[in-house]
Amino acid sequence: MSLVSHLECTRCGKQFAPGKVYNLCPCGSPLWVRYDLRQAAATLRLEELAPRPPNLWRYREVLPVAKDSSILCLGEGFTPLLRAHRLGKKLGLENLYLKDEAANPTGSFKARGLAVAVSMAYELGVRRLAIPSAGNAGGALAAYAAKAGLEAAIFMPEATPAANRVECLLFGAEVVLVPGSIKDCARVMRERLKDADWFDVSTLREPYRIEGKKTMAYEVVEQLGGRVPEAIIYPTGGGTGLIGMWKAFEEMEALGWIGKRRPRMFAVQAQGCAPIVRAFATGGEAAEEWLSPETLASGLRVPSAIGDFLMLRALRESRGVALAVSDHDMLTALRELAETEGVITSPEGGATLAALKKLVSDGLLAGHETIILFLTASGFKYLEVLEPLASHPEG
Ligand SMILES: *Cc1c(COP(=O)(O)O)cnc(C)c1O
Ligand SMILES: [Zn+2]
Repeated sequence: MSLVSHLECTRCGKQFAPGKVYNLCPCGSPLWVRYDLRQAAATLRLEELAPRPPNLWRYREVLPVAKDSSILCLGEGFTPLLRAHRLGKKLGLENLYLKDEAANPTGSFKARGLAVAVSMAYELGVRRLAIPSAGNAGGALAAYAAKAGLEAAIFMPEATPAANRVECLLFGAEVVLVPGSIKDCARVMRERLKDADWFDVSTLREPYRIEGKKTMAYEVVEQLGGRVPEAIIYPTGGGTGLIGMWKAFEEMEALGWIGKRRPRMFAVQAQGCAPIVRAFATGGEAAEEWLSPETLASGLRVPSAIGDFLMLRALRESRGVALAVSDHDMLTALRELAETEGVITSPEGGATLAALKKLVSDGLLAGHETIILFLTASGFKYLEVLEPLASHPEG
């Protein structure tokens, strides 16, 4: 049974009936899912979660799938929250944590969103799923489509890491390589699939991926024993994670898990592709497209995002900041995470530490605050980037 009360447009507020597949609102904006949180609160109690399964479906009441038999589970979510003692000490931070999303199926946190989106599509009778992907979303879609026996078509930039192409092909998906960025992939996908009955699972163009992604915030609060951290540092591309977590904090307050206080949200982008940073700095409510995006952090190579206004709103409401770091600093930080904490993360994960260092030196974060870095994927998906680092240890 699902506790979804309705879906709602994030811009115009128009409401939609639950239990259907949707893309955008007719006004062109993303939809999000609303629940009967009063009913959810009766059973979804923080202090009674321990016996539940160690994956994101432990928050079943605030996920949209109706029937248990529709759930496609590969063990996604409930990833470790690691206390970073040595790194924290170096930086003068007593309460620094790493949320290690490498532990997800397909090695990245994209599994969270796609687990929920593909389960919903499967439940609602969709047979063919298509996605433009900078890499990890494609792999995750392909894995859950394989589990469900559905068809998947993945449109990827030619420059996508080999691991992403290989995983999609092994999962039996159709892979189309497109010159350019994820934006070009989306255009080619829409041209190619115009007449066919393919369902578009692009970031925020369907409402259920964000529901999977929001569970990151539920986990952080649960793993901190009900405390809300002071700061969340998150590598931001399309923004589902940032927007989803911001929604989750609102839900957790309604569930009685937390009070009014929220973490400050920090969005990290690459200097070679930073549309949200630019819009944040100039006070814009939307972000202009970033021309010729360039970064080796493929997950951050997103020149324009349909959820830009939602990201900017969350950053401002939380009194956070959007900041950009260089590819060089990401890799230096990646190496430092490996050397001090024993974790091999992706360049996007490295970006969070590079950003943290800037925030600390600018005096924006203090020593006792609880700070979470989101390490969004495993470094092993980026061996072509990491190999040169390993052979030149002095960087
Ligand atoms: C997709 C991706 C991101 C960006 O995530 P969004 O929630 O879409 O902003 C960050 N890191 C990695 C490794 C990714 O694959
Ligand atoms: Zn609308």
